[in-house]
Amino acid sequence: MVTAIYPGSFDPITKGHQAIALRASNIFDCLIIAIGKNMEKRCMFSLEERLLLVQKTFADIQKIKVVSYEGLTVDFCKTNNIRYVVRGLRSDMDWGAESAIAHANKLMSPEIETLFLLTEPQYTGVSSSIVREILVNRGDISAFVPDVVLNMIKNTHGDVF
Ligand code: ADP
Repeated sequence: MVTAIYPGSFDPITKGHQAIALRASNIFDCLIIAIGKNMEKRCMFSLEERLLLVQKTFADIQKIKVVSYEGLTVDFCKTNNIRYVVRGLRSDMDWGAESAIAHANKLMSPEIETLFLLTEPQYTGVSSSIVREILVNRGDISAFVPDVVLNMIKNTHGDVF
């Protein structure tokens, strides 16, 4: 049974993340979406909200599990016996940051492989930061997030619509 982890902050999950996770779940026996607790970034959505949004998005897909974690991704992998990390790439801008993380992880833990999936063309311009920017300006995020997320955000953060 080959398991991979798809780590990130998912603040909030977008259609871009969703597509990457679905494609990765077709490659591996099990995909764990791991939401980092300790990231330095200030998040718009609480950890509980981010967990719930991702869980709802993949509620029908048994191969995808959702957890939160604290500390280094490589330590989470070692503790849970996971050898594969999946990340998404949108553009050469992602490449700069993503290769730095993957190289650091490789130096710390050579046995762990990072695999990159290139985003689907329609999601190149989709990011959590754009969704947050649209939200604070009371715009329409329906093209950017899964429907279940749209409905939950309307209920929980209705004041920003
Ligand atoms: P970060 O960990 O930088 O906060 P996110 O949590 O938003 O990034 O995303 C986690 C992973 O998903 C990263 O590898 C990021 O490049 C990727 N990703 C984000 N948005 C998209 C998208 N629209 N298409 C493909 N991959 C994406």
